Amino acid sequence: MTVIDNFNFKGLKAIVRVDFNVPLNKETGKVSDDTRIRGALPTIKKIVEDGGAAILMSHMGKAKGVDPKLSLSQIIYKIEENLGGKKVLFCDDCMKADEAVKNLKMGEILLLENLRFYAEEEGKPRGIDKEDPNYDAAKKEMKAKQKDFAKKLASYADVYVNDAFGTAHRAHGSTAVIADYFTEDKKMFGFLINKELTAMDKVLNEAQRPFTAIMGGAKVSDKIAIITNLLDRVDNLIIGGGMTYTFVKAMGGQIGNSLCEADKLDLAKEILEKAKAKGVKVYLPTDAVNADKFDKDANTNISATDKTPDGWMGLDIADETIKTYSEVIASSKTVIWNGPMGVFEMDKFAKGTSAVAQAVAKATQDNGAFTLIGGGDSVAAINKNKLADKVSYVSTGGGAMLEYMEGKVLPGIKAIRGC
Ligand code: AMP
Repeated sequence: MTVIDNFNFKGLKAIVRVDFNVPLNKETGKVSDDTRIRGALPTIKKIVEDGGAAILMSHMGKAKGVDPKLSLSQIIYKIEENLGGKKVLFCDDCMKADEAVKNLKMGEILLLENLRFYAEEEGKPRGIDKEDPNYDAAKKEMKAKQKDFAKKLASYADVYVNDAFGTAHRAHGSTAVIADYFTEDKKMFGFLINKELTAMDKVLNEAQRPFTAIMGGAKVSDKIAIITNLLDRVDNLIIGGGMTYTFVKAMGGQIGNSLCEADKLDLAKEILEKAKAKGVKVYLPTDAVNADKFDKDANTNISATDKTPDGWMGLDIADETIKTYSEVIASSKTVIWNGPMGVFEMDKFAKGTSAVAQAVAKATQDNGAFTLIGGGDSVAAINKNKLADKVSYVSTGGGAMLEYMEGKVLPGIKAIRGC
């Protein structure tokens, strides 16, 4: 496999799949969080500093055709700002960039317009329902068109670099199919993907013990695959968030109006049994902050998690649980965290998630633990508590990280690494 660190881009045009799917402020239209742009900088800088030219491509938002509101032209200023004022050229149609690419000089940077303005990028037919009898034929046709789309993008450059970890779990034109048009020595991961893979492989393959997984968020069903994969690896499994109550109910507890996936009760029991058989210690919240409605101004009370009063719903972990969880995390040498402990978007129910964020940072700083945080909400909680530089690694790809940790093969990774 070709490795970017040893590659010399001098005299070469490199097409780079970056993840510039950044949020824009609804009122000002300005970039409200440029983490993803900053993540791609080392790769872009290496290409131009070597004396090559960088052609950047990305999607933004859920474009279903040309949509000025999702034009990447809006973020050029932010990329330039991050590159210390260096000019970024722009081509407003990713399929009509021949001229712009021809004129591109070494040392220059060209950004292509949103790839998802073309259905070919995702390779899914648009405007036709999955139930439609013609859907399969339309999909087959679109898959063929996707190859042409990827081939066209490939034609712009000598080298392909994938640095978009956030979309590595998608078999899209620019993330996977394009790699077929480059030989082994002309395709590679960028620095960001390399960092993501190193962090995740470290946790999956070389975790120091005790190894603790903290799983939160709304539903068990979303996390079942990762939990199952991690049961073979971890010593402790900490559960929080809405998914708590499916477990509590499965064990016969009273959960009031708390979130519960009634069709996942057997699954919850199965997880608990598997954990026991594998010697994994499972921690479920013992006390909770309850609300009388799902609202930021709701009335609250505290109860044991398995004795939620009728008419109330558990929306955060309470102090006894916070104490237990903090102690388990503090004594861990490896921690992976995905999903909030409560409805952290509302101040009244944010304490548990913030406390876990603090505990993870403390384990990193005081106990030398390797800590990996992923998933939009846990990352938001880490950022809200200004702890991003106090943990070992914050992943940029929620879905991609989950799938990798589930043990799945990611198309964008396989396209370059072969597995
Ligand atoms: P997920 O996308 O599965 O990681 O879930 C994140 C969402 O779960 C957040 O929007 C939280 O507000 C929500 N959440 C966390 N705890 C609870 C809870 N106890 N009840 C309902 N929703 C919750």
